[in-house]
Amino acid sequence: MSGTIVALATPTGRSGIGVVRLSGPDSLAITRAMVGDSEFTTEPRTAHLRPLGDPLTDEIVDEAIVTYFKAPHSFTGDDVVEISCHGSPVILRQVIDICLAQGARMAAAGEFTLRALANGRMNLTEAEAIRDLIEAQTAASARQAVRQMRGELSLQLQPLKDDLLNVIVVLESAIEFVEDDLPKLQLEQLQASLHRITTETRRLADTFKAGHLIREGLKVALVGRPNAGKSSLFNSLLGTDRAIVTDIAGTTRDQLYERFTVDDVPILLIDTAGLQETTDTVESIGVERSRATIADADIVVVVVDASESVTREVREIIESVQNINHIVALNKTDKISLDAVAEIRSDITNANGETTVAVSALTGSGLEDLKKAILAPFLAIDVSIAGFMVTDARHRDLLLRAETEMTQSSEHLNQRLSEEIVLLGLHNALRYLGEITGETTTEDVLTRIFSTFCIGK
Ligand code: GDP
Repeated sequence: MSGTIVALATPTGRSGIGVVRLSGPDSLAITRAMVGDSEFTTEPRTAHLRPLGDPLTDEIVDEAIVTYFKAPHSFTGDDVVEISCHGSPVILRQVIDICLAQGARMAAAGEFTLRALANGRMNLTEAEAIRDLIEAQTAASARQAVRQMRGELSLQLQPLKDDLLNVIVVLESAIEFVEDDLPKLQLEQLQASLHRITTETRRLADTFKAGHLIREGLKVALVGRPNAGKSSLFNSLLGTDRAIVTDIAGTTRDQLYERFTVDDVPILLIDTAGLQETTDTVESIGVERSRATIADADIVVVVVDASESVTREVREIIESVQNINHIVALNKTDKISLDAVAEIRSDITNANGETTVAVSALTGSGLEDLKKAILAPFLAIDVSIAGFMVTDARHRDLLLRAETEMTQSSEHLNQRLSEEIVLLGLHNALRYLGEITGETTTEDVLTRIFSTFCIGK
């Protein structure tokens, strides 16, 4: 954790500029060696254009904008130097190599943020929010990450922790000073407080359902018989010609993946190879993959050619996804009359109480209904609500654990069990709430969390 670390802070590849970031006590000394000026710079947070060279060979490798952030007023809380080079992977590699030769070491994943945490520049949820912000797939999930980064989760947790601590203090002093049991009135007050804290903890945990949807989105798999129009539907949902469409059955031998967004929810759309029995080796591998994809999908869209009669094979496909969230898209409805659509719809619906949506990949009709139907099973909570949401499974898990402990303690209190037993649960609950923001997080947990960051963050 100590020493001076260096990493590329911008993505690898060619770009206008690429930023190399140094953090640690030797950042300025290393920079001075590179710019060949032992006096450089006493002026923090100002940009300086300087030649960058290799002190060992005196060769100039680039001209760059160098900015020094003096500890503790930097992202990490250490001395930090950001070097904005020209965005050539060769130059950036050279600059990093010079920093390494001058005594820096490569930063581990998330190490810059970990330092910021260690130096008290932010708490754990704020650090996690930076990761989530960088990885956000939609504007909505970025918005939630920004709220968390600005401390909103900590802010919501603080009064809960304060109130819980108050309950604990009252009970602790009951042990210390009172010979008899707690008076009835005080007991009722404690119960009321506990109830309030528990309910609010639960409410926060429950926002995860929508929060998770916004952050992780849904995996949606298209399945169906060859030529039902899966690839056409894939393309028209995305609004591009991504998948190859032919009237030769079995052309989609491997799966295609693309992302798009519906009502702020990121969707990973997968065009599967179909589920038909086959003797062709390549096609059968595709079919195998389709099965795995279906098992892993949040929702499956069974694409049915509505212009043909419903065959046994179609019924079997629908049968095979009964245990998974699914809907049936009646495709090619441009080819048939409204009466015929109604007929096939009632035929399929009657069998299993299916949700059906009439569409045409060709004309685009019904696509909006299909998108709505894909989201419908997940929208028990309105995802566009303006409130703050818990988006991290770790946070939800800790909130639920705290809730369980508090509920149990409240029951123990009711049963007039000893204060020690009641307190045990309440202390656990407080620790769980503290783990969310990192006050009581163990080193192991921190290592695990920061391994999900990328290098340079
Ligand atoms: P897949 O094998 O299920 O991926 O099916 P494709 O998307 O390759 O489509 C098979 C054939 O059906 C192609 O000739 C498409 O042009 C045609 N097709 C797909 N969707 C529609 C539709 O909504 N209406 C009409 N009329 N034809 C369609």
